[in-house]
Amino acid sequence: MSKSTRECNEIVVTHLSNGAPVKLLIHTIRGQKPGPVLGLSAVIHGDEIIGAEILRRVYERLDEAELSGTVKMMPVANPLAFESLTRNTPLDMNNLNRVFPGDPKGWVTDQLAHSIVTNFLDTIDAYIDLHAGGAVPIVDYVYIQNDEALSRAFNFPVLYRPAHPYEGTTATYTTSKGIPSVTVEVGGGPNYAKDVERGVEGIFNCMRHLKMLPGEVTPAPKQVVVTEIASIRPTQGGIMVPGFDFSAVGTVIEGEQVLARTYNPQTFEELEVIRTPFKRNLVILMRGTIQKVNAGDYGFMIGNLDTIEGE
Ligand SMILES: [Zn+2]
Repeated sequence: MSKSTRECNEIVVTHLSNGAPVKLLIHTIRGQKPGPVLGLSAVIHGDEIIGAEILRRVYERLDEAELSGTVKMMPVANPLAFESLTRNTPLDMNNLNRVFPGDPKGWVTDQLAHSIVTNFLDTIDAYIDLHAGGAVPIVDYVYIQNDEALSRAFNFPVLYRPAHPYEGTTATYTTSKGIPSVTVEVGGGPNYAKDVERGVEGIFNCMRHLKMLPGEVTPAPKQVVVTEIASIRPTQGGIMVPGFDFSAVGTVIEGEQVLARTYNPQTFEELEVIRTPFKRNLVILMRGTIQKVNAGDYGFMIGNLDTIEGE
């Protein structure tokens, strides 16, 4: 591997009050043949750390002798939120993935978004953004945005076509520019190695699909396109005891069953029982370990298997 084909650039976005710079780091890996520029980003939400490990492994295994085009990687898009392992930026409490295209004169989160747009998103031809369930839940699906074939090439079994995409995300920006964009939700919780590897393989398969790497595209497994997801947030804080462990991710739960019970940790009173919402429930995001939960946290995302496309 020739070192000269790789470079690493640090962009100073602003400074903390203590003088420390707030920096974004972007790796550029140039292939020996011409081709598109693929952008890969992770940790836009600071508690979704698995994406940084997926990108580290892609960086290690990528061979520029085989690569047509260029890969740009931003493994930690919100370094402030990463440090505190929080979804939002602790300095201004804003969600980076709701403020794109940002504002160079705005909150620190707006400034980060603006810098990501000008230094990264405006320089790429295709885009994969890695998200996760966060520090406790595990999640598993891929959004369909403006390039269904590229989303399918990530080879996850569950795809989601939202009726109303979120505003202000990186992908809202890139799709508005006509850049093929894929948002991946993979792993979280204990950050299992198998989920890291599925993310790595998904990226390499998308690169074969884009003809940036040689070799046959690995055919997708049976995939379902979900159009209706119930996002269940607990209304009560406490200690949540789930009814299923993480092996339920991606499986179907038939009928009404208990997903979790939340207890007052001091009085032992049962505060809430969360049940499956549909007749046939596809588990897309879940909590699978006994944890503290706050009212309004992400609890479960359950797809309605009776409203999937093509069935
Ligand atoms: Zn996220």
